Parts: sequence; C-alpha cells; structure tokens
Amino acid sequence: MELFDTHCHIQSVGQTGGERSTRELWAKSGETSVDAVVERAEQANVKQMICVGCDLADSQLAVDCVKNRENLYASIGIHPHEAELALQKGHLEPFAALVDGHKVIAVGETGLDFFYNHSPKEAQEQVLRFQIELALQHNLPLIFHVREAFDDFWPIFDSYQGVRGVLHSFTDSQTNLDKAIERGLYIGVNGIATFAKKPEQVAVYRAIPLENLLLETDAPFLTPVPYRGSICEPYHVETTANFLSDLRKESREALARATTFNAKQLFNAT
Ligand SMILES: [Zn+2]
Repeated sequence: MELFDTHCHIQSVGQTGGERSTRELWAKSGETSVDAVVERAEQANVKQMICVGCDLADSQLAVDCVKNRENLYASIGIHPHEAELALQKGHLEPFAALVDGHKVIAVGETGLDFFYNHSPKEAQEQVLRFQIELALQHNLPLIFHVREAFDDFWPIFDSYQGVRGVLHSFTDSQTNLDKAIERGLYIGVNGIATFAKKPEQVAVYRAIPLENLLLETDAPFLTPVPYRGSICEPYHVETTANFLSDLRKESREALARATTFNAKQLFNAT
C-alpha cells in the first residue's frame, strides 16, 4: 500500500524563516528534523509528500527542502492571507522565479479566503490571478485554498482555459462539489473529515467521486481524530484514509491505489 500526502507544510520544521503560524507550530512541537518526519511518514506507507509554500520565503524553503529528498515535491504559493503583504513588498517577481526550481510540481496554495479576510479582497484576487497565469505559462496544476469565497472564485476560475488543480481542504457544499467536478478539479480531503459533525458535510465526503479524490494532511494543522491535541504530521494521512475507507465503504487498498494514482496524474509525480 502506498499513500500520497498532497498537502503538507513540513519545509518549516526546525526553521527560523518561512510562514509564521506553521513555523511556530513546529517549534512548539519540539520537532526539528524534516528527515524524522519523513521517516515516520514512510513507516505509515506515506511514500510521497508535497511541501506547499504560503509566501515567498516559505516557498523558497519548500524548494530547498525537496532538493535532496527523493520522496518530496514542492509547490510554490502565496496564500490569500499573505496577498496584501506580498504586493506591498514587491514579492511577486522573485516568487515567480522559483517556478523553475527542481521538483516544483504545482503553484499554490493560492485562492480566496473571505472567512478570515487577512488581506483585502482586491489583493487576494490580484495575487490569485497572478498565480493562475504563472501556472498556465508553465503547464502546472494549482493548489487552491477557497474559504467562504466560491461565489467570487468561480468567475475568476472560469475566465481562464485549461486550469487544472485541486480544491485543498474541501469542506464546502454539494453544489460547489458539483461545480468542481464539472470543471475536472480534484478534491483534497484531510483530517477535518474525521471530526466533521454536520450530516450534509459527511454526505459530501461520501459523494466525492473516487477518481477526483486526493488525500492530504495540511500538517502541522488539522490533526485527525483520535489524535486531536497533538501536532499533525504526514503520517496521519493513514488515519484519514482509514476513516474515509470506512465511511465510503471502499477497501483500504482501493482507496490508497486510486488516490495515489490521482495524485501522480495531477502532479505528474513519478
Ligand atoms: Zn495548507
């Protein structure tokens, strides 16, 4: 059995730079070795992981982190929370230059977040469009973070042709799931599924077509049940996979095989 964590933030383990909330959480956990984290993942059959960047420094860390580690890939991104700051600091240009890095297989996370609104709407939209265009120029898929913002997201998405990608950490409605599937998007599911309570939300996890499903952790965040309270690591993909296998009545092997196949297809990872 082989699992693929399509979304984690392990590049800031033991680092003093990179996206602050992620880095601080790793520091709090006391873990300082990326290799130890990767080793634990491998022991839980998580054979490949994508280190997802959230700002310029964090994306640079992701690129550096995957260089000499066979089973890691990098995605470079500016998170919607960081959009305004990236514009103010003139980060878009140096950020775009990272796209040519070795094993950079996606752009993101990028998107719109009107739940927190850490950046003004206009800044989020501008930085999202910049990243969609960068991905299209380089024929890369995108990792989207969309929260309370689908009504604004779809018109932007639909204004481009040929955009491929995943809606990471999907927790939205059946309607938006249908819209995503119509557009050929993949759906990323993480530990949130294990503590989702609303029947409609659980129904959505059941309804995601297996050929569109990707597994992820968002480590160090969103630790699945029954490990709430401890830090999330890529090895927790196994817990979420087992949970989904029971929920969706698919064998663990079938779920692992399909989701790993999907990840390799989307990200062109061998
Ligand atoms: Zn994330």
